[in-house]
Order: sequence, then structure tokens, then C-alpha cells
Amino acid sequence: MSSESPTNNLKVNIHPLGEHGIKRRQINRFAVGIVEGLVEKGYRAYLVGGCVRDLLLGLKPKDFDIATNATPEQVHKTFRYSRIIGRRFRLVHVYTRGELIEVATFRGAAQSQDASHDASGRILSDNTFGSMAEDAVRRDFTINALFYDPIKQEIHDFVGGYADVLERKLKVIGDPESRYREDPVRVLRAARFVAKLGVSTDSGSEEPIRSAGKLLGNVPSARLYDELLKLFLSGQAVNSMAALQEWGLMHHLFPQLKCDRDNRVIEGKVLRQALINTDQRIRERKPVTPAFLYAALLWQPVSKLATSYGERGYSPQDALTVAGDEIIAKQCQRTAIPRRFSGVTKVIWSMQPRFVNTKGRRANALLNQRKFRAAYDFLLLRALEDESLESLAKWWTDIQEVSQEQREQQIFGDSKRKSQRPRRRKSKPASNDTSTSK
Ligand code: ATP
Ligand code: MG
Repeated sequence: MSSESPTNNLKVNIHPLGEHGIKRRQINRFAVGIVEGLVEKGYRAYLVGGCVRDLLLGLKPKDFDIATNATPEQVHKTFRYSRIIGRRFRLVHVYTRGELIEVATFRGAAQSQDASHDASGRILSDNTFGSMAEDAVRRDFTINALFYDPIKQEIHDFVGGYADVLERKLKVIGDPESRYREDPVRVLRAARFVAKLGVSTDSGSEEPIRSAGKLLGNVPSARLYDELLKLFLSGQAVNSMAALQEWGLMHHLFPQLKCDRDNRVIEGKVLRQALINTDQRIRERKPVTPAFLYAALLWQPVSKLATSYGERGYSPQDALTVAGDEIIAKQCQRTAIPRRFSGVTKVIWSMQPRFVNTKGRRANALLNQRKFRAAYDFLLLRALEDESLESLAKWWTDIQEVSQEQREQQIFGDSKRKSQRPRRRKSKPASNDTSTSK
């Protein structure tokens, strides 16, 4: 069914329940409640973006976002437990029982005045309200621009996104080159959707990605860090890496990694296996940390730089510490890393030379280090690349599996056991010894 949009002249296609088949129980009840609350007050409100796309694809949406023609103040007034947030574009967070739903007022088309873009065409200010159709066309991809009315159970489509979801096509809304220029993060989002949803890009949307990659250098590093986590810590690290490599984007995120002629970074076994393990851990609902991810991603330049410090007379541990500081500082200029994570990344690296020592108090201390497990997991990855580490890695695997007594025997040998025996005896009262022996 199609009709003129009440908001402007763009044609809207409306897909009823009989066509899309989205069930009420698939939708967050609280989000539906917010839409109902706004509609009762006479506003228009819809679920929008990734959640509609995921529902159509039969996936469980990560979050449910709402778009409305009510202003942030009007939304805030409608819901007692809500807060207006954001400076660049104000949104409302509505809360209930630990849940949070984001409600945004329809955004207008990007302003065309020079003042709102930087020299490369990147949008700097984007804060005007607009119509529903304008809100649709300023979104990135057609599959992300669908609105769902949970009361009438209808999907409203201004950009052909409905057909693209069914055909699993990723198409930029508008002219791809200028949309990537406006916001270069969209090229990373394209890689993420290809990896996560199994959609494929049409040639018009794909071609300009390669040349837009270099514009990532203009994006604030904190925003790139957020995108990086979504790419690598959402269960699709391997696929994300493949998409980023295909389009030569890894190199722009990690300028310190060595590349081949096609702008693909040289992955190495450490990184490849780290990504496989990360996806596996997420499938098993085990925790993952950006610290370990960064340790694997940057191991190649760190170990190279540490080698050159070693040649200048630094001890292996000092060399890794200094190299780690330098490589992380440079990486932070591109993708910011919070200190609480970069600190752990550096510990993982600088602990590596300590594994060589399998005897005495130092080996025992290493086992009891807080970050032992992460550093040991990293040693296992390194052993995939360096055969000479295999037996060492096995020794550290085995030592964790034996009893406390066997561990002491292996680390301290007989000398420690002998030296401990008299001390243990001393701690027991002599009278007890005699009484038990009687
Ligand atoms: P995910 O499932 O990963 O959350 P998503 O599509 O919902 O995917 P969000 O980052 O949650 O992604 O963004 C919500 C919606 O906001 C998108 O679906 C899209 O319509 C719009 N959007 C997000 N980022 C951009 C962008 N950089 N440019 C244009 N529109 C964007
Ligand atoms: Mg989302």
C-alpha cells in the first residue's frame, strides 16, 4: 500500500501485519508503552532503525529506539522517569525497572550551510528537528530507516528499505560518496552490518568505501573506539575483520600495522586466533575485554619495536614496557583506549618475558599475579606463531593443573620442600606431636 506522507512530499510505503508478520511478543513491552503514551498525548511515535530491521530479519533486537514528532521537552513531560541528554542532538532517555529506551525527535535534513561541515565534508552540527520523511533520509542505510507503528502494526518505508531487508541488501540512502564524507564512521557501520547480518552491499555503496577509509583520520578517536568495540566484541570479530580487510579499512584504524600492497594488514596467527577465541567466548557467554583485544591487535608492532630496544641493550621486559607505552600512545591518537584497559594491555605484554623463568620464587610469584590468566592466554597465542614457545606454553598449562604440592615440587624442587618441612613441624606444638605418636 502506498500514499503521500503527511509530513512532506516523499512517498511512503506502508506494509501491514499480513505482509511483515512481526509478532507483538517480539517487541519490548516497555517500548510499546512509550509509543502508546506519546500517541495518547496526540503525538506520532514509532519504533525505528536497527530494531525494525532485526525484527524483519527474525533476529532479537539489541535495543528498541523510538522516533517521534514530540520535542524532547514534550517527551520529558510525558514520562516521569525520563531525562533529556546530549548536546549535539538532544534525546530523551526514558527509564523503567532497569530498562532504558531512547526517544529522539524526528531530525531534519543535514544543513547545507558551510558552517555545519568541516573541510572534508564531515557534518559538525546536525541539530534541527524535521519531518518523519526527513528523519528517514538522514539515516545511513535503507534497511536502518524503517518505522514501525506497534499500535496499527504497520511498517512505514520512505526509502525502499523493506525490500532491501528481504533481499539482504545494504544500500546507502542518497549519494554514497557524500554520505560517507558527511560521516566516515558509516564505512565502519557498513562493515559491521555485512559481518553481523550477512547482507551484501550494492556496487554503488561499496565502491566509494575504499577511498572514504582515509577520512577516518578526521573522526574523533573516542567515537572510533566505540565503533571498534562493536566490530570486535559483539560476537562477529572474524567476519568484521574480513569485511574491514576487504575494503582496506583496518589500515586506517591501525596505522601502525604492516600492510600488503592491497592495503590489507598482515594478520598473523596471534591476531587471527584471538579473534576466533573472542567470538567463541561470546557464544559461551564468557567475558571479553578490550585490553586483550588490543594486546593481540598491536602485538606485531610492539614485538618489533621491543626487539629493536633489545638490540640497544634493554632487558626483554624493559624493552616491551617502553615499546608498549609508545605503541599505545600512538594508537590512542586514532582509536582512544581508556587507561583502565591500556594499562592491562601493557601488563599482558610486559609479563611475557617472565614466562621464560619456570623455577624459584619468581615463577611462583608470576602464577599468583592478578593478570596471570590473561598473560598466559596470550602466551598460548604467541606459541602458535613461534614454535620455540610450545614447550614453555605446555609447561605453564600443566603447572596450573597439578596439585599445590606437585606445583611446589616442580617450581622449587626438593630444596624448598626440605626447607619447608622443619618450619611446618615447628609450627605444631611439640606436646601434640608426642601425644599423637603415643
Ligand atoms: P545495532 O543493531 O548495532 O544497534 P543499529 O542500526 O540499531 O544497529 P545504532 O547505532 O543503534 O545502530 O543506531 C540506531 C539507528 O540510528 C540506525 O539504525 C540508523 O538509522 C541511525 N544511525 C546510527 N548511526 C548513524 C550514522 N552514523 N549515520 C546515519 N544514521 C545513523
Ligand atoms: Mg541499535
